[in-house]
Amino acid sequence: MVLPSLISISRVGEAGAEIISRISHGTRVAAGTVEPRTAGARWEVIIDPGRCKGCGICVAACPMGNLRLSEGVNSLGYHYVEWKYEGEVGPCTGCAACYWVCPEYSILEVVRSGGEGT
Ligand code: SF4
Ligand code: SF4
Repeated sequence: MVLPSLISISRVGEAGAEIISRISHGTRVAAGTVEPRTAGARWEVIIDPGRCKGCGICVAACPMGNLRLSEGVNSLGYHYVEWKYEGEVGPCTGCAACYWVCPEYSILEVVRSGGEGT
C-alpha cells in the first residue's frame, strides 16, 4: 500500500488558515490524465484511469461536480473517472475529498496550479 504524503503546506488569509497546496500518493503516471490546462485554473486533479474501478464514490463526494464516469472503459473494463476544472456547481476548490475517498488510489494528486499563495 502506498501511503499518501503531503508535499507542501502554505499559509494564506488573515486568519492564517493552513491549506494543502499539493497532496500526492507519490506516484506519477506517464500517460496524460489531466484535461488540457484551463486558463486561470487554480487546481489540477491528476488521475490514473487505469486503476479506476468506476465505483463512483469520488463522483458523489465532489461538492463541485468536477468528476464524472467516462463513456469508454479502461483496460480493466471499467468506466473510469474523468475530471474537469469547471464542474457542474463551480470550479474545483482543491478540497481533495476525491483524493481521500478513492479506495483504489486512482486519484494520484491534487495540485495547486496558479493564483494567490503559490
Ligand atoms: S479536489 Fe474537491 S472540488 Fe476538486 S475534483 Fe476533487 S472533490 Fe471535487
Ligand atoms: S473513487 Fe476511485 S475507483 Fe471509484 S470512481 Fe473514483 S477514481 Fe475510480
